[in-house]
Amino acid sequence: MSDRAFLLPEEDIDISHIKRLGLMGGTFDPIHQGHLVTAEAVRTSFNLDKVIFVPSGQPPHKVEKKVTAKERRFLMTELATVTNPYFEVSRVEINRQGYSYSADTVSYFRQLMDPDGELFFITGADAILEILTWKGIDKLFAECTFIAATRPGFQPQAMAERLGAQLKPEYLKKIITIEVPAMAISSTDIRSRVDRGRSIKYLLPEPVEQYIYKQGLYKA
Ligand code: NAP
Repeated sequence: MSDRAFLLPEEDIDISHIKRLGLMGGTFDPIHQGHLVTAEAVRTSFNLDKVIFVPSGQPPHKVEKKVTAKERRFLMTELATVTNPYFEVSRVEINRQGYSYSADTVSYFRQLMDPDGELFFITGADAILEILTWKGIDKLFAECTFIAATRPGFQPQAMAERLGAQLKPEYLKKIITIEVPAMAISSTDIRSRVDRGRSIKYLLPEPVEQYIYKQGLYKA
């Protein structure tokens, strides 16, 4: 099997017939069960035909932070999603030069899918709280609806209050929050556990756990 067949680059995913598409955007450093449960919950609740995970290449908001090499994050995302026939992983942000802007990614998939279809951008509520700083938000809100996954205890009211003052009301209506108890798991906590030699078993799929240990990731 060639690398190309295994990696399923976006060019190999035919989505021209897709009417309801979910894009699962994240740094996935690493991907964990919370992300997978979120994607599956949104897929079933919103009747999506497919969810394409889009690991970010060079996150513009993490210039000062240490982020694991993009090919490793991409591979972990592949390992985690391979058993779900509704999930795919795209290389579009991995292959793109420069910063990974969601506006470029959403436009890219908009052009490939059914022109009458609906596009949903799924990510964490904490990321959506910063959406006013994102590039091209008018275009983004014209092209997709946002699904913001919240951790237990998150107050959706607080999000409406924080964004409501500056975001157009019609945009605010295109942000839907969904509480995902499994998002009690976090990538930050997993990285910290690995560094401290604590177990990460069952927090993420076993092949991803094995990959982390094999490559010696997250050890300071
Ligand atoms: P982040 O700042 O690392 O994460 C913010 C919070 O959201 C964290 O609590 C994170 O939990 C959670 N989260 C991230 N992705 C998630 C997902 N797919 N499902 C559920 N929770 C998720 O955010 P990020 O991962 O780097 O970015 C999230 C998305 O927003 C990416 O697609 C990124 O490209 C996009 N973004 C775009 C711009 C822009 O266009 N200018 C700017 C910022 C972000 P975990 O740490 O456990 O994942």
